Amino acid sequence: MKAIRVQNCGGPEVLKLEEVPQPQPGPGQALVKLQAIGVNFIDVYHRIGFYKLPLPFTPGMEGAGIVESVGSGVTEVQAGDRVAYAMAVGAYAEQAVLPSWQLVKLPASIDFSSAAAAMLQGMTAHYLTHSTYAIQSGDTILLHAAAGGAGLLIIQMAKQCGASVIGTVSTEEKARLAREAGADEVILYTQTDFETEVKKLTGGKGVQAVYDSVGKTTYQGSLNCLKPRGMMVLFGQSSGPVPPIDPGILAAKGSLFLTRPSLGHYSATREELLSRAGDVLGWIAKGELKLRVAKTFALSDAAEAHRQLEGRLTTGKVLLTP
Ligand code: NDP
Repeated sequence: MKAIRVQNCGGPEVLKLEEVPQPQPGPGQALVKLQAIGVNFIDVYHRIGFYKLPLPFTPGMEGAGIVESVGSGVTEVQAGDRVAYAMAVGAYAEQAVLPSWQLVKLPASIDFSSAAAAMLQGMTAHYLTHSTYAIQSGDTILLHAAAGGAGLLIIQMAKQCGASVIGTVSTEEKARLAREAGADEVILYTQTDFETEVKKLTGGKGVQAVYDSVGKTTYQGSLNCLKPRGMMVLFGQSSGPVPPIDPGILAAKGSLFLTRPSLGHYSATREELLSRAGDVLGWIAKGELKLRVAKTFALSDAAEAHRQLEGRLTTGKVLLTP
């Protein structure tokens, strides 16, 4: 079968399509013929070696497809099931072997592209808004990169929870998409100082929570936007890593909370995974959560998909087709 392989970490050009042996499922595993593959920013961190994986590897943490066969002891799925998953490496391929407990059976109304667009960023939006900082009706929150894959879903879920959402984006087109998704206010943080704007918009009070996945270029301003006892949810670093922080800063700025969560710890059991995925897929099926699949590339064009994602040229979800 064909798969994208990374022999050495580096730029998008290290993503090379190769012929690799057909994988076989071991105990507790299932072989899935992939129909749609999700591209996520974590794939960039893996490719550049910021999050380390043993070399060589096949990147990709999200996919949807049909179970072809299962190994011994598998009870969750069987051959022929339509499934999707997130947070298991190796999705940039025609087939993938996965731990069966991580596979979620798809409702008939959810197609493979929607499933591959929903699992990782959808469950992330779910845990961030419902568990890490459980948004209360009447809260005002600040969300960076609001028109991104995770961003557009976080806006919608925050609105479902009754929040007022201030989003930041880099372009007018992204501002339009964020507003369409429900953002109450949108700041072009590449043109305006978002900290000043947030203070203006909140009458100097600040926000209950900041969802910051941009990191290096935003985290200081983000801390300054919080109300006393507010929560800084630092969940990524698209602009680069955040340097070490002196905990005393949290006291000085108002007894703030700082957390650096990861989806893996918020979907660590089958029960939690099925509950979060069930909510996300259910809302999509009912039309209560809208996906935006902006770009679909052939698997062989994975490098171009990465160039566009890193180059801030994408909105919503990016998919690969095997
Ligand atoms: P996005 O679609 O949001 O793409 C990243 C966006 O970040 C860009 O479109 C851009 O939006 C913004 N950005 C700001 N500065 C930069 C920069 N210097 N270079 C590149 N992008 C920049 O990606 P995802 O939805 O896949 O992921 C969003 C973030 O969430 C990532 O940091 C990812 O690691 C994190 N994440 C964390 C998870 C967790 O559990 N902790 C799970 C899932 C995602 P703009 O042009 O508007 O600035």
